[in-house]
Amino acid sequence: MINTDKNTIKTNFIKEIINEDMKTGKYEGRVHTRFPPEPNGFLHIGHAKSIAINFGIANEYGGKCNLRFDDTNPTKEEEMYVKSIIEDIKWLGYDWENRLYFASDYFEKFYEYAVQLIKNGKAFVCDLNAEEIREHRGTLIEPGKESSYRNRSIKENLDLFERMRSGEFPNGARTLRAKIDMSSSNLNMRDPVIYRILHAKHHNTGDEWCIYPMYDWAHGLEDSIEKITHSICTLEFEDHRPLYNWFLNELDVYHPQQIEFARLNLSYTIMSKRKLLELVEENHVFGWNDPRMPTISGMRRRGYTSTAIRKFSERVGIAKRANIAEIDLLEFYIREDLNKNSERRMAVINPLKVVVENYPEGKMEELEAINNPEDESAGKRKIPFSKEIYIEKSDFMENPPKKFFRLGLGREVRLRYAYFITCTDVIKDESGEVIELRCTYDPETKGGSAPDGRKVKGTIHWISAEHAINAEVRLYDRLFNHSNPAGAKENDDFKAFTNPNSLEIKNNCYLEPSLKNAIPGDRFQFERIGYFCVDRYDSSSDKLVFNRTATLRDTWAKIQKSQ
Ligand code: ATP
Ligand code: MG
Repeated sequence: MINTDKNTIKTNFIKEIINEDMKTGKYEGRVHTRFPPEPNGFLHIGHAKSIAINFGIANEYGGKCNLRFDDTNPTKEEEMYVKSIIEDIKWLGYDWENRLYFASDYFEKFYEYAVQLIKNGKAFVCDLNAEEIREHRGTLIEPGKESSYRNRSIKENLDLFERMRSGEFPNGARTLRAKIDMSSSNLNMRDPVIYRILHAKHHNTGDEWCIYPMYDWAHGLEDSIEKITHSICTLEFEDHRPLYNWFLNELDVYHPQQIEFARLNLSYTIMSKRKLLELVEENHVFGWNDPRMPTISGMRRRGYTSTAIRKFSERVGIAKRANIAEIDLLEFYIREDLNKNSERRMAVINPLKVVVENYPEGKMEELEAINNPEDESAGKRKIPFSKEIYIEKSDFMENPPKKFFRLGLGREVRLRYAYFITCTDVIKDESGEVIELRCTYDPETKGGSAPDGRKVKGTIHWISAEHAINAEVRLYDRLFNHSNPAGAKENDDFKAFTNPNSLEIKNNCYLEPSLKNAIPGDRFQFERIGYFCVDRYDSSSDKLVFNRTATLRDTWAKIQKSQ
């Protein structure tokens, strides 16, 4: 379990509530939270925040946090999602110990509670169909109409409910509804449906059930069964709280306290699982774990670190009102972590060949390079230098303007960790494109400085052609080019804002040979280019594939500076 530094988590309204409960002894000093995902999609960065809150609070108060799958809807849930969710939470660094639960394990209990509610005269079997129930419901300004089945006898209700369970009726033929108040100003209290008939196979219970509990019915009972103290959820459930309380009071069972906070939204992306599924199913991305997705698995694949995600979650804080966090802030924490902890390597993404004419044919020198200037313990490595090298196309201009400090015809630059070179000739193809440079090097400048004190303004990276490893590099940009694609007024369809240039694949990149043994998940800073991570799925020893995690440019730091 992560020990979150107590001083770094600022106080917040949830903690104030808990502090008060600790004072009054409401739960005998216990703090027990849970993270309750529905296994109908992969977790995203918004969930990471909820995870950080629930596990963070439990940790801070010496309490417990359960992982509970809220798997009450058989039609949308899958085993694959259960697996991915477990993997993601572990990767984030949280531990539910032996407390992994499934709402579906409580189906029998939920049923017994429903029977009890019927016996108390507080629930009835209703024959109205979904459409009719909606029509009876009323509106915010008009009260609803009571169902004509509302006054069935307890005996009849018990009989019908049992027959619903035994599979006698088709889907949608009947429901079990709580008998509350059709004129309540809160629509959730207008005799809500608590069970529906659904002949569908469930990922956990198989064909055992053909009636399934509704979310509102199940959720509070799950919390109650697990003796949760503080049931932390997002704001959309605020209006459901009276119902949550009503069920627990009517059944006279253990009663946790529900507390709501605002969902995390992130600029330039979306947080709705339904919409993310749409992106996956319509092939806007290559799956839930596409590195452009705001999912935990996508971010992990892209090279984001769990430390950075956790820091970001803490920093954005806990709010009562919906807001949008800046993606730049998340990237700031990614860069901060990677800058400290990733080793530097050289890589050329858009190669341009350079022949060092006065360097001896067949000679190879091993030059020393620093692995991480931020961390001396990372040590040094050797990189080979030889007569033919690759540099970045963008590091050369035939007739550069004054401020261009890289290579130009007749100009001298420093090759990182190697020598000064001067460009003497340019070779072009028929179309006029530069395809090769001829240079000379100064043997006196080994290691990157001239004994005569002569200075060069530019330092560029390079790769020895003979020793280079070929790799594929995938450059990512934002998935959307609108800062709030889900809430944009300009267009109803969030997919209209997808960025057509969110992925650029570079097939012919060259890496220094020390990267040969890089394994999936390894992260590096490619000098002067950005942070990169070996792809977990497509990379192999035959063909290395790197994902760009982030560029080096840090807009958040710039924003902070200018303020
Ligand atoms: P659904 O519409 O399928 O319910 P959901 O995003 O609410 O989608 P859940 O699996 O129900 O998904 O979420 C699990 C938990 O994560 C819930 O407690 C939910 O409140 C919380 N959560 C979901 N999205 C966010 C978010 N953007 N920010 C913070 N918490 C979130
Ligand atoms: Mg939900």
